[in-house]
Amino acid sequence: MPPQLNLILIGPPGAGKGTQAERLREDFSLPFISTGEMLRAHVREGTELGLAAKAHMDAGGLVPDELILAMAAARLDEDDTQDGFILDGFPRTTAQAHALDDQLRGEGRRITAAILLDVPDEAIIERIAGRRVCSAGNGRTHNYHVDYDPPKHEGFCDQDGTALVQRDDDRPEVVKHRLAVYHEQTAPLVAYYEEQGLLRRVDGTRAPAEVHDHIRALIATLRLEDSL
Ligand code: AMP
Repeated sequence: MPPQLNLILIGPPGAGKGTQAERLREDFSLPFISTGEMLRAHVREGTELGLAAKAHMDAGGLVPDELILAMAAARLDEDDTQDGFILDGFPRTTAQAHALDDQLRGEGRRITAAILLDVPDEAIIERIAGRRVCSAGNGRTHNYHVDYDPPKHEGFCDQDGTALVQRDDDRPEVVKHRLAVYHEQTAPLVAYYEEQGLLRRVDGTRAPAEVHDHIRALIATLRLEDSL
């Protein structure tokens, strides 16, 4: 059996993780697992988890680890992760990273690489102000930017034709808080994966197509290394 390709995308909000994960899903037919998308689905459906998570999400804070861990663990154990997975937005704290390591180790699996999409805060603020997402609401959200990655027909998703909207937590005052939370709670994961030799840095300020090419080249190298 070929080794699994188990990837983690790390980066501040608006670094392009969702955009890249969508492209990578098409390239590699691996499941793209976004805990943010999963939580938004819970909020839409009004589940107990959704109700507990909503206030944290609206405020731009993190949903407590104990709520996230069970949801993520169950998702990673679904059948479609047999060849690997692409994680976006998880892990987001050191406690989550440890829990993920423990789960994978227990199942004889391991992380192949943690890819950091590096983008400075000033660029993030500008990007998020222009970010629009489609309202398909089926867990397959497509992302656009009004200037840098506009849809063919203004205001509507190219893929499913639904209206484009701004995420509630993309409002400027919430974005500043999300960035602070990223630096405080998620950025330590960069050192965590670097120490394990798993970190790969990508310049996330480049155009989406260039970032995509860089990640594909990286994955090709990882596969080669793994098959040696
Ligand atoms: P995202 O779509 O990844 O930007 O996530 C949106 C929001 O969902 C975040 O601002 C958090 O409130 C929450 N969230 C998503 N993933 C996690 C996670 N792994 N741990 C804690 N909170 C999360």
